Amino acid sequence: MLKRFTPQLALLAIICLIAAFSYVKSEVIPTNTTTDIAKTVIIDAGHGGFDGGASAADGTVEKDINLQIALKTAYILRLNGFEVIMTRDSDTGTEDDESEAIAKRKKSDLSNRLQMMKDYPDAIYVSIHLNKFTTSAANGAQVFYTKNYKEARDLAQSVQQSIVTLIQPENTRVVKQGTDSTYLLKNAAVPTIIVECGFLSNKSELEKLKNDDYQSQMALAIVGGIMDYSK
Ligand SMILES: [Zn+2]
Repeated sequence: MLKRFTPQLALLAIICLIAAFSYVKSEVIPTNTTTDIAKTVIIDAGHGGFDGGASAADGTVEKDINLQIALKTAYILRLNGFEVIMTRDSDTGTEDDESEAIAKRKKSDLSNRLQMMKDYPDAIYVSIHLNKFTTSAANGAQVFYTKNYKEARDLAQSVQQSIVTLIQPENTRVVKQGTDSTYLLKNAAVPTIIVECGFLSNKSELEKLKNDDYQSQMALAIVGGIMDYSK
């Protein structure tokens, strides 16, 4: 078992993914028509700006780690030839009117994120979040999917499997269909998943999630799952 997934190893894995993907591309289609294989991925860094999301005992706010993992995921996806749209790439919400009351801003923020799905109907939507639970022992990533598209479950499974294989070999969580209480999953207009990357309420997982290398490993694992799904 790997003791630690080092940055060098992560880089090697990225290079391997790129090489594997280029190989598949060159095998399947002539090199001058790459648009057929290009996939559009909307990467959604959960929360942002006025909406911090969950927070940890040490004051770490979910929105900040979501953004770091989302930026790294987008970067690796682009390296691998995907078109990437980000719902946000800085610490902002997506609401229309910042002077409104919080509840209205939240509603506007979510409906704008949903609108991005409608703007890119051929895309898949990958939302990055962190979990929090009353019991501090709970840990490990878990991927949720919309019931609106049957392929969303396949995407969720690919991403869950990739995370388990690459960085969380002891994780026994399984993918779950989102409930109607999750607005984006209930209303999803493209195949949509929410990746809950880990628990802010678990001390050792929190330390990992705050670590830049670990965020890169998580991003790489998410990309691995997306690539596997997109084959
Ligand atoms: Zn969240």
